[in-house]
Amino acid sequence: MKTIALIAHDGKKDEMVEFARQYRDALVQYHLIATGTTGQRIADATALPVERMLSGPMGGDAQIAARVAEGNVRLVVFLVDPLYAHPHEPDIQGLLRVCNVYNIPLATNRATAELLMTLLVQRL
Ligand code: PGA
Repeated sequence: MKTIALIAHDGKKDEMVEFARQYRDALVQYHLIATGTTGQRIADATALPVERMLSGPMGGDAQIAARVAEGNVRLVVFLVDPLYAHPHEPDIQGLLRVCNVYNIPLATNRATAELLMTLLVQRL
């Protein structure tokens, strides 16, 4: 089963929950991985099974980057909050970088995430 990775900064977690609800029927067909708090919010709101990594500031983004590098991730949805600085900025950049190294689809805002999910749904 292919994996979709979901990460949302604090200011974007409500949007991520809405996104997960909106695309629940598609997301259930994937193995979902997420950073700790994001994963908890999605699981609580949708009852989707989510493999939760560490929280982002504690290394969760780096764990997801490692999964991307290992090669089984189909899509990364990383809803970043552009209005706040983050203590784990190096890990955030690392995750974005590894997606570009391996040419993995990466959405950093909800509009792009919706377009990519629409394409994935058509291919299911
Ligand atoms: P969190 O991590 O889902 O554990 O909050 C995301 C982040 O802030 O990088």
